[in-house]
Amino acid sequence: PAFADGTTSRAVVDLDTVTANVRALRGHAPTAAVMAVVKADGYGHGMLPVARAALAGGATWLGVATAEEALALRAGLPDVDVPVLVWLLAPGAPFAALVAADVDVAVAAPWAVDEVAAGARAAGRPARVHVKVDTGLSRNGVTPTALGDVARRLAALEAAGDVQVVGLFSHLACADEPGHPSIDRQADAFKVATDVLHDAGLRPAVRHLANSAATLTRPDLHLDLVRPGISVYGFSPGPLLGPPGRYGLRPAMTLQARLAQVKQVPAGEGVSYGHLYTTTQDTTVGLVPLGYGDGVPRHASGGTAGPGGPVAVGTGADARVLRVAGRVCMDQLVVDLGPDAAERAGDVVTLFGGSDGLAHGGDLPNAQDWADAAGTISYEIVTRLGSRVPRVHV
Ligand code: PLP
Repeated sequence: PAFADGTTSRAVVDLDTVTANVRALRGHAPTAAVMAVVKADGYGHGMLPVARAALAGGATWLGVATAEEALALRAGLPDVDVPVLVWLLAPGAPFAALVAADVDVAVAAPWAVDEVAAGARAAGRPARVHVKVDTGLSRNGVTPTALGDVARRLAALEAAGDVQVVGLFSHLACADEPGHPSIDRQADAFKVATDVLHDAGLRPAVRHLANSAATLTRPDLHLDLVRPGISVYGFSPGPLLGPPGRYGLRPAMTLQARLAQVKQVPAGEGVSYGHLYTTTQDTTVGLVPLGYGDGVPRHASGGTAGPGGPVAVGTGADARVLRVAGRVCMDQLVVDLGPDAAERAGDVVTLFGGSDGLAHGGDLPNAQDWADAAGTISYEIVTRLGSRVPRVHV
């Protein structure tokens, strides 16, 4: 039997949970506006439906990384007029199209000043610009050394009517490690950057620095606007912040499949590629039709090196949580159901779902548990979920 839509797997995204998460985030940052970050297809959850759900929860800005995402957001939400900010652009980016689509653009490098001005002239309207300053992440952003020159050139363009400098922002390197000394250093550097813009005659109305971790733990850094991403989807930014329930957040996505086969395997048999796992008794194995081609991490294989990622077999009170047996393959993985398994082909299994997760005392695995098993972060687990898995928005 397949799922109702004829597929063997699905990622159910509960949009009311996204809305509730954004409401909770507004509660954490009552004096700031909330920009929901919906890049990378809404962290794998589906950019357009998630954006609408976030707006329903009180987000008043949307943020994306790429020009393609920004244009798709505007085209896909023609009735929505909240500001959209895009921050990762390379020379040759479609500035004219972005300005014409009323997308706020980051100026994150000196080259962008000329390109944004040319784009504004081509579009026939001023570009709304946010200056992105590198305060210590050493990633994209204008260096403090170059900031004075960039600010003066933007001030001249503002006077000429080509740009409006709406915002100043930066991104934190270690906000998921509360108390890390770099957080205060970056906050200090951000104040200096504000002064540099002021000295050039620029008065950006919207100053923003906080990602999810800073939104949840550093109210002093909320400024005018916060830019939560992972928390919108119901995850804690990292283990040091504790489980999402602590902040009133709940994972919105549930990844499920139906067992494709259930069969007997004798004791002493190797399971899956490389035989990392060997059965210790006559047992029953179940075949889950999801693999690394769907984004299930191969590093969460289970065997001699450690337990694999968790899989809840069955639903409701009868669900049992087992671990991946052997290698995660491209399209499938195996779980050892034990000698007396009652499961049958077609039964539902859940790789992760809308709870705080096992590692944190919940009753269903969640993406953080998969991240722990694979040595990565929940962000990567949900974002890498493949296009082969249908997103079902409920
Ligand atoms: N702001 C910027 C500039 C980002 O690049 C990101 C994501 O990496 C975010 C905000 C959201 O971060 P998080 O998902 O940790 O809340």
